Amino acid sequence: MGFVLGLVCPKCRFLNKWGENLCVRCMSVLREEGGSVIKEIQIFHVNKGGRGLLFSSTNAFSVSIGRNKCDISFENDRYLSPIHARIENSVEGLRIVDAGSYNGVFRKVIGSRPVKASDVFICGSQILKFLGVLSSLTPYILPDGTTFYGSFIPDREYLMIQQILGSRKMGDLYLRPAPLTIGREKADILFPQDKFLSSTHCSISSSEGGFLLTDLNSANGIYLKVRGSEIINDGDVLLMGQELIMVRIIRKE
Ligand SMILES: [Zn+2]
Repeated sequence: MGFVLGLVCPKCRFLNKWGENLCVRCMSVLREEGGSVIKEIQIFHVNKGGRGLLFSSTNAFSVSIGRNKCDISFENDRYLSPIHARIENSVEGLRIVDAGSYNGVFRKVIGSRPVKASDVFICGSQILKFLGVLSSLTPYILPDGTTFYGSFIPDREYLMIQQILGSRKMGDLYLRPAPLTIGREKADILFPQDKFLSSTHCSISSSEGGFLLTDLNSANGIYLKVRGSEIINDGDVLLMGQELIMVRIIRKE
């Protein structure tokens, strides 16, 4: 264990606060064994001119983030759902939970992260959906033997990327052989007007049994949408609505 802030019940695994003698869920006796190596969790607002430290805890906690009536509220951010996300201590470690938000919670990619079909990611001011591999290049033949008249594309592995527009409509669809790059000036998929994109910003490549989204040392980074909930690490940066939130996990000396 050794990664949690609080006391894990030996029977039901519930995470209790320090100082409890009995599990608040099942009344089992709690023992301070193994101990936590975590001293404190800190949550910072790191937008330009942000509010700084938003929350800190030295004990088991769950903190809600959203547009109103949350532990941390950003009332002017219309891209946030009323209750958007939670950051909470769990038996497995610190966790970011999408609380059923409309627009999702995104986590900054450090280096590379595996992606699968229907994953959404942000690079620059583009919100893009990875649709996976073009399933088949086999010609379509009608029952009477006529072959459908389609564009010729060489028989390679094609990845499909779709732009998501603010009108909630799907934007352009891009078909490119793997690996592909995305950027403002030198890339397979170009968004020349997007000043928040680096010249060559990120890539998607095949890896063992799947695909990898990689930040190519871009200035502004890439953010991958959290699927339900994920364990987060010290220094992770989360993007929800227009808010950038950094989590620090302070370890005991
Ligand atoms: Zn218990």
